[in-house]
Amino acid sequence: MKGSSWKGGSNSYDYSFKILLIGDSGVGKSTLLLSFISNSVHDLTPTIGVDFKVKMLNVEDKKLKLTIWDTAGQERFGILTSSYYRGAHGIILVYDVTRRESFLNLSDVWAREVELYSTNPECIKFLVGNKVDRDSDREVSREEGIALAWELKCSFFECSAKTRENIHQCFIELVRQILEAPALLEK
Ligand code: GDP
Ligand code: MG
Repeated sequence: MKGSSWKGGSNSYDYSFKILLIGDSGVGKSTLLLSFISNSVHDLTPTIGVDFKVKMLNVEDKKLKLTIWDTAGQERFGILTSSYYRGAHGIILVYDVTRRESFLNLSDVWAREVELYSTNPECIKFLVGNKVDRDSDREVSREEGIALAWELKCSFFECSAKTRENIHQCFIELVRQILEAPALLEK
């Protein structure tokens, strides 16, 4: 969405993007979001009931408004609605590298739901393995992550919402890819 009417004001931006976080309960979606938007590691209390957070960001000389949607626990009951997905520019599919089930559910449950509900066929998808700080508890290897990302036609990142490793890089790369998709910039 182009936000030209706001040009010049303190809330001005060139583009506004809707980004979704999805995946099993407990994989670290809320912590990931907080880790990205807050400036201190000390604010990292995971929350239930977050709807979305807004972050303004400059990337490649563009002023961007990111609205990042988090689930408020509905994912536990399989009741994410189509309105959650509507108009998304980017979708981050998150699993926990220490919980194999959360990885299997991405292909069995979440990727299917994305296909069913996502209204932008050009929408950029990222596969993200979180909690790499707990390497000794790992149940999913990096190679398996790469293979699934290939299958789902996603970019792949491993990160830690707790230590912030790779969090910023992941969001910036997602935004770069959205900026490079002309069909998405018109939405
Ligand atoms: P959500 O249900 O997907 O939103 O998951 P939460 O963000 O609520 O996180 C679930 C639990 O995992 C919380 O206890 C977090 O502190 C923890 N957690 C989240 N991210 C990480 C991480 O990168 N490393 C570790 N060690 N714990 C994490
Ligand atoms: Mg949550």
